[in-house]
Amino acid sequence: LMDTVFKGHPYIKSALDMACSDLAARAAGIPLVTLLGGRESESAELYKVVTHGTVDAMAALAKRIVEDGFHRLQVKVGGNVHDDIERVTAVAASVPKGTVIFCDANAGWTPYQARQFADATRAIDYTFEQPCTTIDECMSVRRSLDKPMVLDESVTSLDDMLDIHRKG
Ligand SMILES: [Mg+2]
Repeated sequence: LMDTVFKGHPYIKSALDMACSDLAARAAGIPLVTLLGGRESESAELYKVVTHGTVDAMAALAKRIVEDGFHRLQVKVGGNVHDDIERVTAVAASVPKGTVIFCDANAGWTPYQARQFADATRAIDYTFEQPCTTIDECMSVRRSLDKPMVLDESVTSLDDMLDIHRKG
């Protein structure tokens, strides 16, 4: 109904959609998770963000986060490529092997910058998150990347998600 009277703006509609789903579950007297198809597991792995900062500050923060019990880090990148290479290298060196690292550029780079980063960090095990703005730009990076990639900012519809799946 919302789409018939107000095109676009999925972020705004999402909040209303979630509220309506919650109300429907309450009206039915069941937990929302049951309404949405049921629980798949009793726990979920969470990551904690290593915010953008100096090389030393980011390495120290990552170390502290792991000491607090987190095993998954999302490292913010997407600034000056050469500085971010130093930052991620220092973060990876400051945490135990096996720590899961996501490098999230929040769509901050051109494909060329993203490839520069990927080439210089080839020896580090991480998942590349949203390096560029568009799906096509990210795909151009993905083709020469030997790491997993996840996208969020460029996924604004089911069609986008299916497009990304089709493109591998
Ligand atoms: Mg992200």
